[in-house]
Amino acid sequence: MLNIVLFGPPGAGKGTQSQKLIARYNLVHLSTGDLLRSQITQGTELGLRAKKLMDEGLLVPDEVVIGMIESQLANNTTAAGFIFDGFPRTVPQAQSLDALTQRYDTGVSCMIALEVAEEELVKRLLERGKTSGRPDDQNEEKIRKRVKVYNTETAQVAGYYAEQQKFHSLNGIGVIDDIFGQICGIIDRHQPASSVASNPAAATDEVKA
Ligand code: AMP
Repeated sequence: MLNIVLFGPPGAGKGTQSQKLIARYNLVHLSTGDLLRSQITQGTELGLRAKKLMDEGLLVPDEVVIGMIESQLANNTTAAGFIFDGFPRTVPQAQSLDALTQRYDTGVSCMIALEVAEEELVKRLLERGKTSGRPDDQNEEKIRKRVKVYNTETAQVAGYYAEQQKFHSLNGIGVIDDIFGQICGIIDRHQPASSVASNPAAATDEVKA
């Protein structure tokens, strides 16, 4: 299985790149932000509790997002692999992801971080807020709080994967397709030979470090 953690602050381009990656590698996209927003839309109790924290730019509790990922993995046992987008955001979440994937005799293949400076993130998110309808994208103060939460609580997850030699970082500013090409180069170096064989399009991708 090919399991990619796409990492980076809010507005780094994880969602955009995820859409391109699922098409290329036939992966299931698991975005904890999307899963939480779906709970909010459905008006569930979990959604109501999460909404308060999300609107403030704070993280929802680990056990909530871990539980969501656990059921998504159980519901997609025939998947070729997953893109984890916005998860894990804490070290306990990363540890749980290792434990959960081990149940299926697999693990995280690699983590790819998109690096983008704060001013660019604020600009992008305010722009996205004009059409996304997301309350957390429409207020500069809340956006800066989310970036701060990323820097204080989430950035250390990179170290967790660096210790396992799975961490890669890329400049997230540039042409979307160029960044996508660089991500594919990293993935193709981590991809098990059997997956490359079953997806010739991926095998022909040029490796750019
Ligand atoms: P995102 O769509 O990834 O920007 O996430 C939107 C919001 O959902 C975040 O600001 C958090 O409040 C919450 N959230 C999403 N994923 C997680 C996670 N892995 N851990 C905790 N909170 C999360």
